[in-house]
Amino acid sequence: MIGSHVWVEDPDDAWLDGEVIEINGEEIKVKCTAKTVVAKTSNSYPKDPEFPECGVDDMTKLAYLHEPGVLQNLKCRYDANEIYTYTGGILIAINPFKRLPHLYDIQVMQKYKGAALGELSPHPFAVADSAYRQMINEGISQAILVSGESGAGKTESTKMLMRYLAYMGGRVSNAEERSVEQKVLESNPVLEAFGNAKTVRNNNSSRFGKFVEIQFDQRGRISGAAIRTYLLERSRVCQVSDPERNYHCFYMLCSARKEDVEKYKLGNPRTFHYLNQSNCIELDALNDSEEYIATRRAMDVVGISEEEQDAIFRVVAAILHLGNVEFSKGQETDASEPKNDKSRFHLKTAAELFMCDEKSLEESLCKRVFVTRDETITKALDPNAAALSRDALAKIVYSKLFDWLVEKINVAIGQDKESKFLIGVLDIYGFESFKTNSFEQFCINLTNEKLQQHFNQHVFKMEQEEYEREAIDWSYIEFVDNQDILDLIEKKPGGIIALLDEACMFPRSTHETFAQKLYQTFKDHKRFSKPKLSRTDFTIYHYAGDVTYQTELFLDKNKDYVVPEHQALLAASKCSFVSSLFPPLPEESSKSSKFSSIGSGFKLQLQSLLETLSSTEPHYVRCVKPNNALKPAIFENNNVLQQLRCGGVMEAIRISCAGFPSRKLFHEFIDRFVILAPEVRNKSGKKDDIAACKKILEKSNLTGYQIGKTKVFLRAGQMAELDGQRGEIL
Ligand code: ADP
Ligand code: MG
Repeated sequence: MIGSHVWVEDPDDAWLDGEVIEINGEEIKVKCTAKTVVAKTSNSYPKDPEFPECGVDDMTKLAYLHEPGVLQNLKCRYDANEIYTYTGGILIAINPFKRLPHLYDIQVMQKYKGAALGELSPHPFAVADSAYRQMINEGISQAILVSGESGAGKTESTKMLMRYLAYMGGRVSNAEERSVEQKVLESNPVLEAFGNAKTVRNNNSSRFGKFVEIQFDQRGRISGAAIRTYLLERSRVCQVSDPERNYHCFYMLCSARKEDVEKYKLGNPRTFHYLNQSNCIELDALNDSEEYIATRRAMDVVGISEEEQDAIFRVVAAILHLGNVEFSKGQETDASEPKNDKSRFHLKTAAELFMCDEKSLEESLCKRVFVTRDETITKALDPNAAALSRDALAKIVYSKLFDWLVEKINVAIGQDKESKFLIGVLDIYGFESFKTNSFEQFCINLTNEKLQQHFNQHVFKMEQEEYEREAIDWSYIEFVDNQDILDLIEKKPGGIIALLDEACMFPRSTHETFAQKLYQTFKDHKRFSKPKLSRTDFTIYHYAGDVTYQTELFLDKNKDYVVPEHQALLAASKCSFVSSLFPPLPEESSKSSKFSSIGSGFKLQLQSLLETLSSTEPHYVRCVKPNNALKPAIFENNNVLQQLRCGGVMEAIRISCAGFPSRKLFHEFIDRFVILAPEVRNKSGKKDDIAACKKILEKSNLTGYQIGKTKVFLRAGQMAELDGQRGEIL
C-alpha cells in the first residue's frame, strides 16, 4: 500500500527502511533516507510501526519477526550499549570493542544469582546462573557452548562465564592454598601467553580450542576441573605474516627483566627470524614486560615451580635461537652446515639452552638417517631441507611444551573423580573461509559442522520430537541437516580424512594424487565439487557456506611425526624438563609406520567432546563481531547477518516463533490459570484436565494454541497475555 513503511533489500546495508511511494505490479518504489529503491514486493517486509525505541531483549518478543527486524533490534540495542540479546534460550553477544563500565562487577554477579533467565537484562552471568541452577536442581550436567568467528568475543565471554561459576561454586580459601577456582581462572593467562597471538582478526587471538570442565560436589561446590585443548596452530612458531605476531610468550621473554634476558642471550625481538618476518613487534594495548611478570605470577598460582618456569622459558629462548640458524652448502655435495659465525653462535646457544650436545643438534638438523632392511644410510640434507628440519624441530618442541603446560595445569588443579556433575564451557574457533584455506581450516570447519549438528539436534529435533510425542499439529520448519557433510568428511572408510590418511601412508602420494582420488570418489557427491580452474583444490558446501580448500600442504600437515633424530637428541638432554617432553616411544610405533594422523586424532578428540556434550544440557552463547576494523560503535549489517546465518541463529529464531515456545503440563497450567475460569476447579482425571484447559483458553480468547497429550502448547507471547489477564483479576 502506498504510504506504508517497509524494509527492502540493499546490497550495501543488507536492509533499508522507507516509505512506499509507488506500486507497479510486482515492484514497489520505496523512498529511504538516503536514496530511493525499487524492489520486488516479494522481497520486502512490513516494518513494525510500534517497534520499541530500545528494541526488545528477546527476539521472540518481536511483533514482526523477519531478518530486517532482527537486525534492527540488535543494532538499536548495540547503539545503546546493550550488547546482549536473547533468542529464546540462546544468548547473542555483540563485541563492544570497548570496556563497558561495571557490566561485570561483583555486584552484578550478586544480582544475577538465582534470578530466573529473562528476569534481568540478558547477560552471560544469567546463562551461567541458569546452568548452575539446573545442575543443582535437576542433577544434570551442563554445557555452555560459546561460538563465533575470530575476534567475536568468545574468549572474553568464556572468562565471564567462568568467573561467575567460580563465584557461585567457590569457597573461602585460606591464603596459602589456592582454591580450584583460582587455579582455573589463573590458567587463562598462562594458556594465553603460550597459545594466543595477534592476528589480523583479533589482537589476542586464541590459536587453540578449549573445553573447560568444572566439576562440582554434591553441595554444588567446585571440587575439580579439567582443561582439554584442541589443535594448537603450530605453523605460527616459524612463520608469521605481516602484520601478525608470533605467540605472546616470545615477545614477553625478550622484554623480561634484565637478568633473564641476559641469561637467555636474548635482546631486541627484531633480531630473531621467527619474529622479524612480520613488522609488527609491539602492540599498543599490551606491555610485554608487564605481561611477562603477570604470566610468571599466574604460573606460580597454577603450581608451576620456579625451576620449571626457568626450564620453560629456556626452551622458548632456545626456539628463538634455533630460528636464527641459517644453512649453506658445505664441502660435500648437497651437505649443509651453519652459514656463518652468527649461525654457529645461535646453534651453540640453542644447544646450551636445550642442554643438549651441540654437534648432535647440528647433525640432527643437517642429516637424516634412513633404515632399510639391511643397512642404515645417512643422507646429507641440502640447505633448504636443513632449514625445514630446523623448523620442524622448533614446532614439535613448542607443541610439546604447550601440551606439557596443559597437563601440568590439570594436575595442579586436580580432578574430582567422584564428581556427580559438571559444567563444561567450550571456547572454540568458529567457521573459517579465507582466500586460501588449508588443512587447519578444514579441521576447524569440521568442528563447526559437528557443533552445528549438535545445535540442530538440540534446538530443532528436540522441538519437533516433543511435538510428535504430544501428537500436536505442527507443520515442520525446514532446516538443513548436515549429516551428509559429516559423512563426506569423516566416514570410515571412504571419507576425506580416511583418504588423506591413506595418501599419507603411501610413499609416492602427492597432493595431486590425493586430489585426483577425491575427485574420483566424490564426483557425484552433492556437498563436494572440483573448482573449474583448478587441478588440486576442492570445494565443500558447508552449512555456513562454500569453502574451497588448497590441498598443497594437506599431506604434510596431517603427519604427526617426530623426526627420530630430533627425538633422540632431546630425549638425551641433560635438562630433565626437556627430556621429559620426549619420552621414549613405545617399541611398536617406532618400528611400524612412523605416521600418525593429525586429522584422525582430531576426529577422535571431537567424537569424545561430542559424547561429553550429548550427556549435558546445552546452553548457547553466539558471539558476533560487528565490524572488521575491531572498533567500537560500528555495526555492519551485512557482516552481522552473515554471522547470524552461520551460527544457525536465524533458524533458531524462526523455530522458536513459528512453533510453540511456551508449554505447560495440564495440571500446572490449571493451577496457574484456574482463576480465569473458576468454574473448572475441583474436577480431576485426564479428560477433565483437558476440558478444563480448553475452557480456560476459550475464555481468554486466544487462538492458535495446541493441546497435546500431556501439555498445553502456546504461541509466542500467549503466556504473557494469560499472565496479564490473570494479573488483572488478582
Ligand atoms: P575470540 O576469542 O572470539 O577470538 P576475544 O574474546 O579474544 O575474541 O575478543 C577479542 C577482543 O574484543 C578482546 O581482546 C577485547 O578487546 C574485545 N572484547 C571482546 N568481548 C568484549 C567485552 N565483553 N567487553 C569489552 N571488550 C570485549
Ligand atoms: Mg579466543
